[in-house]
Amino acid sequence: MALDDNRDSLPSASAVTRLMKCAASHRMTLKARAMRQEAEEHGGKNQQYREKGNAMHEAIFKQSAADLETDQDRMDYSKIMRRFRDFLGGWGAQDDDMIIREERFWLHQEIEPIFSGRPDYIRISPNRQRAAIVEFKSLWNKEDEPRENNQLWSQAVLLAEEDPGIKEFTLQIVSPHYTYTAHLATRDEVLDYEVGLRVMLTLTQVDTPPLTGDHCKHCGGMLICPAIAKEAAIKSEHPSELDLKNAPKLLERLERMAKYIEEVRNYYKLVIAKDPLAVPGWKIVEKQMRLLKSPMKIRDAIMPVIGEKAFWNAVSVSITKLEAAIDGLDKGLFDGDNKNPKKLLEPFITVKTQEASLVKEKK
Ligand code: SF4
Repeated sequence: MALDDNRDSLPSASAVTRLMKCAASHRMTLKARAMRQEAEEHGGKNQQYREKGNAMHEAIFKQSAADLETDQDRMDYSKIMRRFRDFLGGWGAQDDDMIIREERFWLHQEIEPIFSGRPDYIRISPNRQRAAIVEFKSLWNKEDEPRENNQLWSQAVLLAEEDPGIKEFTLQIVSPHYTYTAHLATRDEVLDYEVGLRVMLTLTQVDTPPLTGDHCKHCGGMLICPAIAKEAAIKSEHPSELDLKNAPKLLERLERMAKYIEEVRNYYKLVIAKDPLAVPGWKIVEKQMRLLKSPMKIRDAIMPVIGEKAFWNAVSVSITKLEAAIDGLDKGLFDGDNKNPKKLLEPFITVKTQEASLVKEKK
């Protein structure tokens, strides 16, 4: 099956959405990767998110939340497992299905590997005619629906190449935060998609110009991208003089600039971490955050000393976590008048309007 688990600097399924919009992104990402190799060693936000996502995947495959760090993670895990079981039930899973977990598959041009993907979970029916491809997404990023999700479609292409007998591919994303509608794709549809995928892969090998857009925010090549640098230098009309129909473009550009600024700052953090005198007048200051662990033990140790009232005054309760805990309860407990378990909390919630923020509408 898979050659090995090394992507070998070739494009992979997780980047297809971006590459379909900007094929140059692959080239830029490879160039920037060398500059950022140390960033991986030094950690950073992306690595923390990746570690969080990996821990959730481990828990799903071990079917145990024991190693997850926080109560929120454990609640997310319960929700994912419930939704996953519901999906498998609807798909018609059987005990003798074949299951493949996190295995890398390759697409070839003649005998050369040109693209790879590592689906989180594949389930194939015993007659090998039906397959389900599932991605687990535990973070808050909202993904494209399975019917238009490039990552899932390109994984279906890889599986179709691997197993020519599969006629139906069910694509699904399981998340604790959003519900997605599974999409059933026929083999012919997957092969049609493959044509466009191969065109895009050819474009990643030639010198196409970078094309900016919303997809830039996930691009690893932003740090050295000339199109972004050009956008950063372009002068715009003053917002009050700008035709409002052009305002969405300006706001999207500013979002890209914010990401670009973060990329540049992160790069110089690395430079200064290596040589504290490299950038005159700038230094790195480490921030520390104090965290409390084991809430039960804290309550047992502190409440007898400061009293119950002072203790509860010092503790903040998370509405989201309480709602998630209620959500995880057996719905049979809520019969009769108490049909909606979330109503339990309603009498205690006070809503305060905070300062409005500007967000982009989801399409
Ligand atoms: S930053 Fe945007 S335009 Fe530049 S290479 Fe990446 S995706 Fe393309």
